[in-house]
Amino acid sequence: MRSIARNKVKLNSNTGILPPIQRIRLEKIRKESKSWVPMWSGDSEYEKFEVHGWPTNMVVDLGKRLCTCGFWQLSGMPCVHACAALARVGRRLEEFCHQWLTMEAYNNTYAFHINPIPSQAL
Ligand SMILES: [Zn+2]
Repeated sequence: MRSIARNKVKLNSNTGILPPIQRIRLEKIRKESKSWVPMWSGDSEYEKFEVHGWPTNMVVDLGKRLCTCGFWQLSGMPCVHACAALARVGRRLEEFCHQWLTMEAYNNTYAFHINPIPSQAL
């Protein structure tokens, strides 16, 4: 009950799409993505990329939110390869995070409360 009440107001002043912990994680991935080189496949939607780097190349589809490394599909957050491709197309990384990582999901989690109850003696 206490932690729900505490978390409910904890991020009231937070502005932005993502909570601070997710924003920090995404920023770390964004920095690591600079060592990867996205190459556009030539598709009409400008969404399919081959991302070159070490130890292998990855295929990223921004429209389907897929990367062959699997990180994006599993975590909901764009991987280093997807971030490299998103930087190429000039899109905001936050918009490609899954809904479950957003402030909206955080606020929905703490939208409810647990009713206080008296002790057993009463
Ligand atoms: Zn990837």
